[in-house]
Amino acid sequence: MTVSHWRRSAHPHPPTTLEASVCVIGAGICGVSAALALQKRNESFIILERHALASGASSRNAGFLMRGAACHYAEAIDLYGRQSARDLWRFTEANLEGLRREGCESLASYRRVPSMLLALNAGESNEAWEPDAAYAQANRAGLERSLSLMQEDGLEVGWLAPGGAEAPSDSAWKSGRIACALVNPGDGSVNSYELMKLLAGKLRVHPALGAKVSSPILENQEVFAIEPDGNKTLVRSADCTIRCERVLVATNAYASLLLPQFENLVKPRRGQMLGLAANGRTLAASYYANDGSEYFRQAADGTIVIGGCRTYFADQEVGFEDRTTLPVQNSLESFARAMLGYRKDETLPITSRWAGTMGFSPDGLPLIGPIAPASPIWFCGGFTGHGMSMGYKAAHEAVDAMLDNREPLFALSRIGAARPHR
Ligand SMILES: Cc1cc2nc3c(=O)[nH]c(=O)nc-3n(C[C@H](O)[C@H](O)[C@H](O)COP(=O)(O)OP(=O)(O)OC[C@H]3O[C@@H](n4cnc5c(N)ncnc54)[C@H](O)[C@@H]3O)c2cc1C
Repeated sequence: MTVSHWRRSAHPHPPTTLEASVCVIGAGICGVSAALALQKRNESFIILERHALASGASSRNAGFLMRGAACHYAEAIDLYGRQSARDLWRFTEANLEGLRREGCESLASYRRVPSMLLALNAGESNEAWEPDAAYAQANRAGLERSLSLMQEDGLEVGWLAPGGAEAPSDSAWKSGRIACALVNPGDGSVNSYELMKLLAGKLRVHPALGAKVSSPILENQEVFAIEPDGNKTLVRSADCTIRCERVLVATNAYASLLLPQFENLVKPRRGQMLGLAANGRTLAASYYANDGSEYFRQAADGTIVIGGCRTYFADQEVGFEDRTTLPVQNSLESFARAMLGYRKDETLPITSRWAGTMGFSPDGLPLIGPIAPASPIWFCGGFTGHGMSMGYKAAHEAVDAMLDNREPLFALSRIGAARPHR
């Protein structure tokens, strides 16, 4: 979106100016977690959000609180090196631990269920999601390699195969489609909007702001400019200007709309989902199939959610548009039939369809740091489809590094957009 002259010049005009130590832009998991980190350090802050709490990806995802990244462990080692992969897996464990400390397990929607990376059996249909023999074999080999590397690196991990005593007897395993599963035993899942309300509910207006605002999150305030003002920075939305020492941009996929230099750093990628009534089906775990191309789980109220199939339509599933499309939804339906045991002539009990926009980074890792050397404007995002599993911890890392004037983990400068922070 953009902000018109009329909206910028309507009442209150000039906009109300507020002073805060840090202005956070965006009220998703990243922005709200950053605000929690600032609150713990007793820094004054304001969040400006263009729509409403969690109106971006943070309330549109599948709700997996999952260890790891978009790829499996062996692939992460190939991409990032062994130590970095191990650190990343530990980082995501710490993310879930942090959310548990905030009380996510008390939510009615929270389920302490393992997540399982599935290799599927090869098939001969023309369905895009169904692996051919070569892919099925490679997928299984990759998971086997991950299993032994994770065991060597002291990460808790399990392995299941059909017919084994410990394989669940849920609908996915009964489908006959699963060849094997790598198990992350310590994971969980949640209604992500409920989680966001829990986290946002912990935020308080800092005493330095007094009675000037009634909430630490100012909604319907799209930021359209960030400008220097002497030794301070001005963050402008239609109704307010925040005069602050530092800015944390937590807009993830939408980064380039405000900071054009992020066009090649954070790419907007659409993810689509499908919700189905349980209709007698059960799922004992959160499932991640075909290297994460498809993912599905059962919510605490019984609803089954299924997402993915974007990789088969990768050229179309780009940009900011919030809509579902027939090709992706048809593929999701076909996948749902296969994994949940519905015949082709049976009507699927579909209750909802939706989409969300993810921010993909160039190397699949988060991006944290100043947008230019020594800049007071920092960015945290680029979670590449795993922000619920990384965003809380990444935001804490961003705030700590920004305030302590140190190089952050996952430094944005690695990509070459900015040199290391001095
Ligand atoms: C379909 C789908 C399924 C997913 N499943 C999972 C999953 O199961 N597990 C997992 O870990 N991750 C999952 N993800 C990814 C996860 O949802 C995201 O990585 C995460 O929510 C990103 O959080 P964020 O706070 O960085 O960004 P967002 O939640 O997108 O928040 C950014 C906020 O910034 C606001 N904003 C943008 N521009 C401006 C501006 N100029 N001024 C003010 N505000 C602005 C937006 O309105 C938005 O509220 C999924 C994503 C999708 C789309």
